[in-house]
Amino acid sequence: METLNSLLMDVATLPSLPAIAIKIIQEIRKDKSSVNELADIISFDPALTAKVLKVANSSFYGLSYKVDSIDKAVNILGLEVLKNIALSFIIVRGFKRNSVDEFNQELFWKRSITAAVCADLMASRLKKRRDDTFVTALLMDIGVLVMYLSRPDDYLKVIDEKMISKASTTDVEKSVFGLDHQEVGSEILKAWGIPENIYTPIAYHHKIHEAAPEFGDTSEVLMLSDMASSVYYGKKSAEKLRMLNQLLQNKLNISESDVNQLIDSIAEKTVEILSTFDIDANNVKPISEIVQDAHEDFGNLNLSYEQLVVELKQERTKTEGLARELKNANEKLRTLTFQDSLTGIYNHRYFQEILDKELERAERYSRSLSLIMLDIDNFKKINDTYGHQQGDVVLCAVAELFKQIIRRPDTAARYGGEEFAVILPEADIRGAVILAERIRQMVERMEIKSDNQVVKITVSAGITMYEPIKNITNKMKLIETANKALYYSKMTGRNKLSVVPIQSS
Ligand code: GH3
Ligand code: MG
Ligand code: MG
Repeated sequence: METLNSLLMDVATLPSLPAIAIKIIQEIRKDKSSVNELADIISFDPALTAKVLKVANSSFYGLSYKVDSIDKAVNILGLEVLKNIALSFIIVRGFKRNSVDEFNQELFWKRSITAAVCADLMASRLKKRRDDTFVTALLMDIGVLVMYLSRPDDYLKVIDEKMISKASTTDVEKSVFGLDHQEVGSEILKAWGIPENIYTPIAYHHKIHEAAPEFGDTSEVLMLSDMASSVYYGKKSAEKLRMLNQLLQNKLNISESDVNQLIDSIAEKTVEILSTFDIDANNVKPISEIVQDAHEDFGNLNLSYEQLVVELKQERTKTEGLARELKNANEKLRTLTFQDSLTGIYNHRYFQEILDKELERAERYSRSLSLIMLDIDNFKKINDTYGHQQGDVVLCAVAELFKQIIRRPDTAARYGGEEFAVILPEADIRGAVILAERIRQMVERMEIKSDNQVVKITVSAGITMYEPIKNITNKMKLIETANKALYYSKMTGRNKLSVVPIQSS
């Protein structure tokens, strides 16, 4: 659980649950709540009210009369259903961002909403529908979003790796994060106070046979709806469709054309529900059209079966090769943006970004954060005596030392020239002094060999700390203060540490 906690701590951008969500969760947890209480909570939020009514009037519930008030909606759909509808809206609204980065959050929700619609339809057919089926399926992959928000680069790596390897998403996630999105999602929902009936089946939707018997049915519905929604959005749609077809034919004891009809109705209902979540529904075509398109593509090729197999194989090898190249290029690009080209440790830009993020987190959770600035003493003399190139060797040797001794969650970066910085989240001055002193001693003992000579150097350090009580989250001020401390070390003899507390202005 340690890894999970630190992952969740990383999520500086994770929105905390809005007050209204907390109220609705409390209502859900109550055995008995009154119509009035829920109606009051929902009516307080006009946008939410409008959405709930829109859903109540959608073909999803197929009512023949108009539902124009929350009270009516409660009477017709039932309290439990309504609570879960409200919860769905609130969570999607809290998270949805029109991000322009590589992880398409809009697509993520589109998929989740489609899965939720699928789950509701399939559970009905399987006679396993529950009031919270929709919201459970909607949230089953929330772990993916949390992992992405906490360590975006690592999650993009997962997506790249998944694209080129045959491994399952959960395996790839485990190899990169040590955890998969089932565990992460389930834990965060639990932490939010969402009921066990929702978070437990989520923990098993990719390993349904491990689920406890009372949650097995829901996990299975989740697994099936995940598969059905990936027919619409995932790669390998045809393959997934075939698998799903088999599974459903057996489970529901219905014909292939009935299964296709069921899958088609998912698209129809999804389009309607998506609009209530303010998500553009284009591209959600009924599966019959997708299959039709695929048949036409193959028809146009007009190849013999053997030729087709050869073509497909070649095409696949080419695509896999390209995907791998793309993945490597992406990775390189990502590291280049944040890597100092000479020493290979993080650069100034990354330092600034991480410090922003860590300060925000320290402020949010009322934690301390220490900053060490280190500068090589009389470095100009090293350059003058041994040449600029040897100077570079010295810089690399110091960076190498940082690579060896700095552990997560700390970050070491080259601040510029011969100055380095170490960010220590959650560390107080004592911890920072211990690390800085260790670095100072190790540098002093270092023997940097170059051209049959041994170069000896020392460093000076300046340390300061952000304290939540003082509440000064100004990043520039923090850097300035650490530099002031460093300057003090230089002025009073070098090869030493100084601490300057941050002053409120
Ligand atoms: P002090 O103890 O006060 O820090 O003295 P100093 O000589 O280390 O500091 P000063 O700022 O006077 O000189 C830093 C030198 O570092 C000057 C600059 O040419 C050199 N330098 C900056 N970046 C690089 C680099 O990438 N490679 C090499 N070889 N030298 C660099
Ligand atoms: Mg210097
Ligand atoms: Mg300097």
